[in-house]
Amino acid sequence: MSKPIVAIVGRPNVGKSTLFNALAGEMISIVKDTPGVTRDRIYADVEWLNHNFTLIDTGGIEPDSRDIILSQMREQAQIAIDTADVIIFITDVRQGLVDSDTKVADMLRRSHKPVILAVNKVDNFDKFMPDVYEFYNLGIGDPQPISASSRLGIGDLLDRVVEHFDGLELEEEEDERPRIAVVGKPNVGKSSLVNKLTGNNRVIVSNIAGTTRDAIDTEITWNGKEYVFIDTAGLRRKKKIKEEIERYSIIRTVTAVERANVVVVMIDATEGITEQDAKIAGIAHENGKGVIIAVNKWDAIEKNDKTIYQFTAKIRDVLAYMPYAEIMFISAQTGQRLPKLFDMIDTVLENQSMRVGTGVLNEIMTEAVALQQPPSDKGKRLKLYYITQVAVKPPTFVIFVNDKELMHFSYTRYIENKIRESFGFKGTPLRFIIRERK
Ligand code: GDP
Ligand code: GDP
Repeated sequence: MSKPIVAIVGRPNVGKSTLFNALAGEMISIVKDTPGVTRDRIYADVEWLNHNFTLIDTGGIEPDSRDIILSQMREQAQIAIDTADVIIFITDVRQGLVDSDTKVADMLRRSHKPVILAVNKVDNFDKFMPDVYEFYNLGIGDPQPISASSRLGIGDLLDRVVEHFDGLELEEEEDERPRIAVVGKPNVGKSSLVNKLTGNNRVIVSNIAGTTRDAIDTEITWNGKEYVFIDTAGLRRKKKIKEEIERYSIIRTVTAVERANVVVVMIDATEGITEQDAKIAGIAHENGKGVIIAVNKWDAIEKNDKTIYQFTAKIRDVLAYMPYAEIMFISAQTGQRLPKLFDMIDTVLENQSMRVGTGVLNEIMTEAVALQQPPSDKGKRLKLYYITQVAVKPPTFVIFVNDKELMHFSYTRYIENKIRESFGFKGTPLRFIIRERK
């Protein structure tokens, strides 16, 4: 299911990071941890009353000079308008209403996006409530008093956020065409790939299925089958600051990956794999999406009989957390191996939805246990009772054991490898849930 996106916008020092951490810290649904990927917390999964959404902090750098604050805020607000389903606009009761708040509020109102106005630092409701009323002047609805640092009013704020999810969560489910996100750092060749695939009949499906997001999607028919390609290159802005470009590209990636079934992670052959590539690939991995690594501009480099081997080894090393992802060497410009790319997309789509019967799974597990004894600790040995597949997209398995503590990551990985030896599951991560049965 595609998750709604909620973005936080506001001036420096109003409490954006504090609110972000309060929401992400306590209510985070899945603790995401991708080894080897350093992550600044730009986004987090939040769960509230059976709703799951992705929270984005659009605020980056805090400039010293006053006149760039407004232009930065506009930039942030624009990112939120482009990518989010609901926007939390946060202000500060102690500083009161300031001019840039008014200007950004105008911009948000014109976007017709749902906006929730949060007035932060209301640490004491009796004392500060009279000052909250002033914020009605922004003309974007009832101000919601909160204290991000004392966690007051947060529940009410979230209630108002999730009210706007009605219908959103199901919208794209009805469209059965596979959705493919092409992600990668700027200039890696994302637009070139989509252009090459469409030839001259590029059909741009804007705002498909009535989504509120400004997604620019492209419909591509290949071998009589329709695919929707999600563009992350689309919106280009002149940016001066490197960190800002990176943040923006991460946000675009998160929102695209969220909506996709399969993610094509593009790497530039002329540059080799970089840390930013690893960050971007990590987003697809953590979301449980199907992944294909496409090394683009393969036409542009000098090659000998070892080049593919060397590239593969380096990528496997940097992306060690996703050994399941297939690596392809393509050229968006010449069209080299693009038919193969579609074959792979189809394979990955199938594998994301593959189900394995409980009987077979238990046979594999029993055999695996017989081959390699489970770990033990202080005289207690791990026992694996039963395994069953409980979900697809990504394929998710529950293993019942005697003691969760004894089920080390490495033994889970061992069982995973055994399942993959039999069924492949190429291109998709697998999830394992360990449950105790006494
Ligand atoms: P950002 O620049 O918008 O991300 O703001 P921060 O989250 O970094 O917060 C700026 C300052 O405001 C920090 O010193 C916070 O401790 C403080 N702050 C944040 N939320 C509250 C709050 O609810 N009450 C009070 N009194 N201070 C807060
Ligand atoms: P995006 O920012 O990821 O969308 O990248 P673009 O599609 O705009 O491509 C950036 C640059 O790389 C352009 O100058 C393209 O012509 C070039 N480029 C893209 N794909 C290829 C390729 O397969 N081979 C070569 N040699 N150049 C490419």
